[in-house]
Amino acid sequence: MKVITCVKCKQKNPASHFNKSHKKNNGLQSWCKKCTAKAVHELRHEQRKTKIQAECEKIMEACE
Ligand SMILES: [Zn+2]
Repeated sequence: MKVITCVKCKQKNPASHFNKSHKKNNGLQSWCKKCTAKAVHELRHEQRKTKIQAECEKIMEACE
């Protein structure tokens, strides 16, 4: 199975632990689902909705 290192937590995870991204060459986001979910959760608490969308797209493409 293909194993990918998350750029956020540096953990090696199977490809199934990553959300898909059509912007990336390998078709997967560079943050694992756990890190993505945590970051999105934190952003929702800290920022307004319109800002969240922009930040997510910029940082990790989590809000597709
Ligand atoms: Zn991670």
